[in-house]
Amino acid sequence: MRIGLYPGSFDPLTNGHLDIIQRSKVICDKLLIAIGTNSAKNPLFSINERIEIINTCCNDIANIEVVTFNGLLAEYSKKQNISFIIRGLRSSTDFDYEYQIAVANNKIAPDLETIFLMSRGEYFHISSNIVKEIASYGGDISSMVPHYAKEKIIAKYSNHS
Ligand code: ADP
Repeated sequence: MRIGLYPGSFDPLTNGHLDIIQRSKVICDKLLIAIGTNSAKNPLFSINERIEIINTCCNDIANIEVVTFNGLLAEYSKKQNISFIIRGLRSSTDFDYEYQIAVANNKIAPDLETIFLMSRGEYFHISSNIVKEIASYGGDISSMVPHYAKEKIIAKYSNHS
């Protein structure tokens, strides 16, 4: 069984993430969506909120599981019997960053491959940060995130003000 691991912050899930999750079916039998808990970023959503958003928005997608990890991704992958890591690529900035990480992971776990899926044209401009920025100014994020995530984001910013 080929188990893929799709790591990220997912703060929150966007249509760009969702597209990668759906497309990863062609390369893996099971996908673990892994939320990193040791990120230095200041998140909008708690880990439990992020898990709940992903589970709700992906409830019609088979063979996925949301997990959390801390520490080194390569070590976690070894323990969980992961066949490969899946990442999305939007731009050359993503590429430079991802290349460094892939090389570092490969040093720790030489058998662990990272597979990159290129962002589709309609999603390449979407990031969780952009979505949060637009939403914080009351802009329309309908085309960027699933409906449920949109409601949760709007609720956060209306509580903030
Ligand atoms: P973001 O960069 O949006 O904050 P994450 O850190 O959660 O997202 O990213 C997790 C993974 O998803 C990374 O590999 C990232 O490149 C990928 N990703 C994020 N947004 C998109 C998108 N719009 N299209 C393709 N891949 C994406």
